[in-house]
Amino acid sequence: MRKQIAAANWKMNLTFQQGEKLLDDIFDAGIDLATHQQVIFAVPFPYLLMTRSETEEVKNYEVAAQNCSDKDSGAYTGEVSAEMLHSLAVNFCIIGHSERREYFGETNSLLSEKVNQCLKFNITPIFCCGESLAIRESGIQNEFVQTQLRESLFHLNEENIKRIVIAYEPIWAIGTGKTASSAQAQEMHAHLRSVLAKQYGNGIAKDISILYGGSVKANNAKELFGCPDVDGGLVGGASLVAKDFIEIIRSLK
Ligand code: PEP
Repeated sequence: MRKQIAAANWKMNLTFQQGEKLLDDIFDAGIDLATHQQVIFAVPFPYLLMTRSETEEVKNYEVAAQNCSDKDSGAYTGEVSAEMLHSLAVNFCIIGHSERREYFGETNSLLSEKVNQCLKFNITPIFCCGESLAIRESGIQNEFVQTQLRESLFHLNEENIKRIVIAYEPIWAIGTGKTASSAQAQEMHAHLRSVLAKQYGNGIAKDISILYGGSVKANNAKELFGCPDVDGGLVGGASLVAKDFIEIIRSLK
C-alpha cells in the first residue's frame, strides 16, 4: 500500500528557536501515525540535525532537506551534497521545487542528476512537477508535466522509480491562496499515475505516492486528500502554523 504523506516545506522561514517551538507544538498534539502514514519536515539545512533528533523518537515522522547538489563533492562553495545529508541520517530531499526551477535555473536534466545523487545515497527524492498559469491556460498542462517526469525520472529502472515520491504542485496555486479544485487535482494525479503506468506498468504506478501541493490549508486538506489518487500534500505556508499543520496531518487517509 502506498504511503499517505503530509510533508511540510518550511522554505527559508523561521529562526532555529521558532522551528524548535513549532515542532514541539506539533508533537504536543500526540498524533500517532498509522503504518501507511508519514509526516516529513523539510527544513533549512542548519536545522536538519535538530529536526532529526526531534523526529527520530516518533514513529513515521521524518526529516527532509529542501535541495541538494547534483555533484558528488569538491569545489562548489555553498553547496550541500547528498552524501552529506546521508551522513546526517536524512532520508528525504525535495528535488525540483518550482522556486528552485524559477530562481535558480534548475532544468529537467539537472534535476535528473540530483535524483541520481539522492538515490545513490539512499535518500528518497520528493520530486516536484507542475505547470505555470500560462501553460494551464493554454491547455497543455498534461503534456508539460509528462515531459518533466520523462526528462528527470524515466531514466530510472523499476527498482529506483519505486523509491521516488512525486509532488504535483501547480505553480499558480503555490503561495497564492488559489488551490486547485479537488477535481483538478484528481484529474492531474490520475494522469501522472497513468503516465507512470505506461512507462513502468500498473503494479509499480499504483505504489508510488503522489502528493498535491499548492495552498493546502487546514480547511481544504481533507477534501483534497480524499481524492483517490492524491496521497497527501506538500505544504508551504500552512506548515508554519502548528494548529493548521496538525489539522492537515489529521486529514491524511
Ligand atoms: C510549497 O511550497 O511547496 C507550497 C505548496 O506552498 P503553499 O502551501 O504555501 O502554497
